[in-house]
Amino acid sequence: MKTMRAIGLRVGRVILNPPGLECVRTLCRRVRDNAPYLLLPIAVSASLAADSRPLVIAHRGASGYLPEHTLAAKAYAHALGADFLEQDLVLTKDDVPVVLHDIHLDTVTDVAQRFPERKRADGRYYALDFTLAEVKQLRVTERFNPKTGARVYAKRFPAGQSEFQISTLEEELQLIQGLNGSTGRSAGIYPEIKKPKWHRGQGHDISKIVLPILAHYGYATKADACYVQCMELGEVRRIRGELGWRGQLIMLIETKAKAKGEDGTDHNALCTPAAITELATIVDGIGPAIERVVTWSAAGQRHVTDLVKLAHAAKLVVHPFTIRIDEPPKNCPSADELHAALFRGAGIDGVFTDFTDVTVAWLKK
Ligand code: CA
Repeated sequence: MKTMRAIGLRVGRVILNPPGLECVRTLCRRVRDNAPYLLLPIAVSASLAADSRPLVIAHRGASGYLPEHTLAAKAYAHALGADFLEQDLVLTKDDVPVVLHDIHLDTVTDVAQRFPERKRADGRYYALDFTLAEVKQLRVTERFNPKTGARVYAKRFPAGQSEFQISTLEEELQLIQGLNGSTGRSAGIYPEIKKPKWHRGQGHDISKIVLPILAHYGYATKADACYVQCMELGEVRRIRGELGWRGQLIMLIETKAKAKGEDGTDHNALCTPAAITELATIVDGIGPAIERVVTWSAAGQRHVTDLVKLAHAAKLVVHPFTIRIDEPPKNCPSADELHAALFRGAGIDGVFTDFTDVTVAWLKK
């Protein structure tokens, strides 16, 4: 009962309006249903904060080795030594946050075979059109191009092998906190709110649903091992302001090719000194595409931009995305040079990597 009361209050501080209260009621039911998990220690960042080594953030899990965002990929990344595990979050029709990179289901599941009649006019299958019970019927596989069927990364996990499911945010948090307890090594979480403006346009407020769940699992303040991330500047402001998020918050900054966000965010404009200074009043750090931090000439010479220096001057941490040793940045000569340029050349504070083991090993050298 003591645990239930403490968590109820914590959620109550974050969300006070009627939909939030309904959320609290739902969560209290889940507290009752999931009581064993609540006895496990909550991940805290104190040990990580005291450690000056840059953070290794498992991008969608150990996605270099297992289908992205599956519990198997998360468990393996935990075992490989990731400091943080990433969750991309979208909603189902019944407003359950699930861990999925796209708002579409057809890039990592067999939805087109199982529910062929459920595509929209654009030919795509949206998680938001399926209930959790339906989503759970889908089989997850390695990421592929839905038009050709070809895997995106040819040397990664084979297509259609073994059994994987889409998991809910809560299932994943229970897995991570379970592993934190059973291994004695705590990994944090790094949830991304995906396309919040689009979700709201469809009548679903994803941030308002996700933040109380995070609080329920012990992630609510800057002392907790959690970074909330988002690509949309308007939503980042809203998360910090209207929605009252008091934990760590990261503004993602897209590549130059994707600089104009669908929500209206101008990602080029976010990299100016004035914008970085203003961002520092809202967020704790930035998560830029690697090309915003370092590029390589045709001859393989690195060029480090001034973005990390600007961010550090504003007391922001910098966690670029994404190290893929099977898809290195243009003209980058090796995985070793990629790590050296980011960690030594640019002085970043952490990195998203598909290959947790490679990045952990490089940092131990
Ligand atoms: Ca992400």
